[in-house]
Amino acid sequence: MEALPFASWFKDADGKFNQANSHLLNSLNKDLSKVLGKGSKEVFDQEDARLSDEGEQDVYETGKISEATYSRDKHIYKSVNFPVFDSQGQIKGTGGYKEDVTNLTGSLQALHQERETLEVLLENMPFYIFFTDRKHQYLRINSLMAGLLRVSHPQEAIGRSNDEFFSKRVARKMLEEDHAIMETGTPIYNRVIFFEDKGVDGFWMEQNKIPIRDERGVITMIVGIFKDVSDKVKIENELKRARDRAEKSDQLKTSFLANMSHEIRTPMNGILGFANLLRDADLSVEQRDLFLQHIDRSSKQLLNIIDDIIDISKIESGQLKISNRPVHINETMDEIYSSFFHRIRGDAPGQQKVAFTLKKDVVSTVFTVVVDDFRLTQIFNNLIGNAIKFTHEGQINFGYNLKANRYIEFFVSDSGIGIEEEKLTLIFDRFGQVNPIKNYQPSGTGLGLPISKSLVNLMGGEMWVESEVGKGSTFCFTLPLVIEEVREEPRVLISNKSYDWTNQCILIAEDEDLNWLFIREMLRKTGAEIIRAKTGIEAVDLVHKKKPGVILMDIKMPEMNGIEATRKIREFNPDVPIIAQTAFVMAEEKEESLLAGSNHFVTKPLDRTIIMELIDCYIRK
Ligand code: ADP
Repeated sequence: MEALPFASWFKDADGKFNQANSHLLNSLNKDLSKVLGKGSKEVFDQEDARLSDEGEQDVYETGKISEATYSRDKHIYKSVNFPVFDSQGQIKGTGGYKEDVTNLTGSLQALHQERETLEVLLENMPFYIFFTDRKHQYLRINSLMAGLLRVSHPQEAIGRSNDEFFSKRVARKMLEEDHAIMETGTPIYNRVIFFEDKGVDGFWMEQNKIPIRDERGVITMIVGIFKDVSDKVKIENELKRARDRAEKSDQLKTSFLANMSHEIRTPMNGILGFANLLRDADLSVEQRDLFLQHIDRSSKQLLNIIDDIIDISKIESGQLKISNRPVHINETMDEIYSSFFHRIRGDAPGQQKVAFTLKKDVVSTVFTVVVDDFRLTQIFNNLIGNAIKFTHEGQINFGYNLKANRYIEFFVSDSGIGIEEEKLTLIFDRFGQVNPIKNYQPSGTGLGLPISKSLVNLMGGEMWVESEVGKGSTFCFTLPLVIEEVREEPRVLISNKSYDWTNQCILIAEDEDLNWLFIREMLRKTGAEIIRAKTGIEAVDLVHKKKPGVILMDIKMPEMNGIEATRKIREFNPDVPIIAQTAFVMAEEKEESLLAGSNHFVTKPLDRTIIMELIDCYIRK
C-alpha cells in the first residue's frame, strides 16, 4: 500500500480507518494515531467526508467497486471505494484511494484534440491521402482518395489493396514504387505524372510517398499524398507557349526590321543615285526623263512603305478610324479594275498571259452600300498587288458576292504560285512575310496582309485565304451589308492647261522650305502674287493684311497648326477658299480640317494638276 503513488486506506465494517498510507497522512497533514479508529468526518474535511461516505454506502449496497470523478481547486480527482471480503465472501470492510488525474485527463483531451485536428486536416486538404501497410493494403484514406478508388466511404477501402481498384498496369506500377520505398527508405517527392486508368479521367498528378518507421527504425507504413496539378501544368504549358511565341515574334521582328531597312534602302538608293546622275550637264532630254521616271517610281515606292508603317502603327495603337459612307460599290469596283487593268493586261511583252476579270453580284450601277471606300480600295490594292506579284500566267479574278443578304463577301483569286499550308496563318502575322519559293522573292514588307486583315476586322468582317501550291490562292473577306441611298459629291475636273491669275494673291502657309520652293515654282507662271507664312500665326496675320484670294494651308506647322489657323481665319473671313494639305493620308486630320472650315483637302506629295485645277476653280468662282 505504501508503494501506491496516491492516498489510500482501509476501513472496518463500522467505517473507521484501520490502515492509511503516508500519501493520505501527508495530504491531511496528520499522524497515523489521529486517523486510526476514526470515521470519515473526523479525518476528511466536510466535502471529502461526504464523498467517501457516499462511496462506501454504494459499495455496501452493490457489493461492487464505486468510482467517482470530481474536481476541486482546479484539480481533477478520481475517488474509488471497493469492498473487502472475509473468507465467507461477506463484506468485512472497505478500501479506498483518491488519485489526482488532472494530468491524465489533460493528456487524453490533448490526444483527442490532436486526432480531431488530424481528421479535419485529412478530410479538408485538397490532396488524395492514404496510409498503406507493409502488405500494401490500405490502413486509412481520406474521402478524396475514396473518390479516386471509387468507394463510397473511406472505411470501405481499409484492408484492401490496389489491384482491387486499379487496372493491372497501374496497380503493378504502384506496388513497384512501394517496394522500392520499403527497400531503400527513399521517399518520392513532387513527382508529376499523367495519371490515367480505366474509369478515371486522366489528370496531372503530383506524387509524394513517404515511409513511416516504428520505434525500431523499421518501415511499417507508407503515407501517400497525391495532388491534382492539372491547372498548374496547364498554366505552365500556357506560359511556355507564350514564351515560345514571344521568342518567335522577337525573331520575326528582327528579320522584319532587317527586311524593312532593305525595303527602304532600295528606293532611297534609287532616288539618291539618279538625283546624282541628273547633275551631269551633258545628259540628253530622254536620259533626263528616264532618270526622273526612276526617281518618281522610287519615291512612290517609298511613300507606299511609309503609308504602310503609319497604318500598322495606327492599327496597333487603336487610332485608325473607319469612315463609312454610302458608296456606289460597283463604281468603286470599276475604278479598282481600271487602275490595275493596264498593269495586268499591260503593254509590256510577257504580261499578256494573265487574264483579269471582275465579278459584280449586283448589276445596278446605283447599288449603294455603306463602307469606307478608301480602306476598301486599299485592301484590294494590297490583294490584287500580291496576286500580280505571284502570278505569271492564267488569271486574276476579283469581285464580290452577296451572302444571305447579310454580308458581302469580296474575293481576289489568282492562278499563281500558291502558299504552303503551314504558312497560311503566318502571312497575316505582323512580321510574317514568307519567302514563297526558293530563288523567288519579290520585294515586299510583309505588312500588306496584316494591315488588310486588321482593316477588315475594324470594319466588322473577317479575312481568310485558301491556297494550293502551284495552283493559286483565293483571298476572301466579308463586310456587313448595309444598303443606303448615295449622296453625290461634286467632282473636280482635272485638265491640263495654263492658267492666268494676274492680280490674284495666293497665300502659301508652309514651314518647310523645300515644299515652299516646289509650290512657288508650280505657281510661278500664273502671274499671281505669291506670299508665304511659316506658322499658323503668320498665316492669320497675312490674311488680315493682304486679303489673299486662295490659301494653301499646311496642317503641320510650328506655333499654330493649320487647323487652328483655319479656325481663326474663319472667325473673321468665312469666304476665302482654304485648301488644306498634309503629308500622307490621315483620315482623322482630313475630317478635322474640314470641320475647322477648310473647303478642300489634298495630300502630299502634291499633284500639280489637281492643285492647279482646284485653285483655278476657286479663283473663278
Ligand atoms: P508583302 O507582299 O509586302 O511581302 P503581304 O503581307 O502582302 O506582304 O504578303 C505576305 C506574304 O504572303 C508574301 O510575302 C507572300 O509570301 C505571301 N502571299 C501573299 N499573297 C500571295 C499570293 N496571292 N500568292 C502567293 N503568295 C502570297
